[in-house]
Amino acid sequence: MKRSILTDSYEDIAKNLKLDKPFQAKIIYHALISGITEFDRITSLPKALRERLTDEYDSLLASKVINTAESDYAVKLALLLQDGSIIECVRLSDGKGRYTACLSSQVGCAMGCAFCNTGTMGFIRNLESYEIAEQFLQLSLLGEEISHIVFMGMGEALQNFTAAMDAIKALHREDGFNISYRRMTISTSGYVPGIRRLTEISVPLRLAVSLVSADDKIRSDIMRINRTYPLSELKSALLSFQHHQDKRITFEYCMLSGVNMDRESAEKLRSFMKGLDAIVNLIPWNPVEGLGFNAPSESEIHRFTDMLGSLGIKYTIRRSKGQNIAGACGQLATKTRRSIRQ
Ligand code: SF4
Repeated sequence: MKRSILTDSYEDIAKNLKLDKPFQAKIIYHALISGITEFDRITSLPKALRERLTDEYDSLLASKVINTAESDYAVKLALLLQDGSIIECVRLSDGKGRYTACLSSQVGCAMGCAFCNTGTMGFIRNLESYEIAEQFLQLSLLGEEISHIVFMGMGEALQNFTAAMDAIKALHREDGFNISYRRMTISTSGYVPGIRRLTEISVPLRLAVSLVSADDKIRSDIMRINRTYPLSELKSALLSFQHHQDKRITFEYCMLSGVNMDRESAEKLRSFMKGLDAIVNLIPWNPVEGLGFNAPSESEIHRFTDMLGSLGIKYTIRRSKGQNIAGACGQLATKTRRSIRQ
């Protein structure tokens, strides 16, 4: 089975490709990150070596783009992996020249959050580190320089901690894509053991927590993780994270009409945030057929943001990009997978 060399050291590359001279590994790695995906185009390698490598490996990439969908601010790729699994990743644009890669960390997701399309797939498997890193490369091959990364695609990244961290380190590599840790955000549904591990390592990543509700009953109903790690445990892990890493935390708050947008919800949110340096990122729910929720109306959003403002809660509103290509938050996954399998 072929694997991408993106997360390999030069020694590993030289060994895997059975290179005659170790420095050729460096040439191949640099060719790959500059967008050359075929050995034959690496003209600084001897012809005989290029031919041998082309015979043994058809491409430098381990994944294949099988579907591309575009909207004004987002491009979503469906990638076919070596074992036949399909994952999705998205390149988001802010319209001002800043591009962000939204990467997946698992095939499917075990968390089963009730408002999320990926959750309906169930957990299929963890991605290998190179499968995570290669999503970034595939999105870069679309042609724009990507400066930011968010782990908000399919899966709970902190449950695939080692592979996610290896991919993060590879994407940070100075002689590679060189993405600063501060420009990478890892998102979690509130997987406390993962937050604690992240606290222990000194990698200054940004942390986003998909909070959705600061009420244990509501949160446990719509996010199963809360039954294992309730809000009190989550908060204690976040306090410790902030104590060690001194980084502002983002709370992703998916607004669900009639569920988490009343006065009581706002007040509970304020008391949960007490003692934390955090900002709330409000995201109107992206409709997914059959999940049984409703997106909030503009007037509901206004009412809720007024309440947050009056309670002194810092917030921003994120209008999800890529909604019409099912590439927005909570929408990734099943469409392409089903259509491929039919
Ligand atoms: S919201 Fe995130 S953690 Fe929850 S099911 Fe979806 S992908 Fe998994």
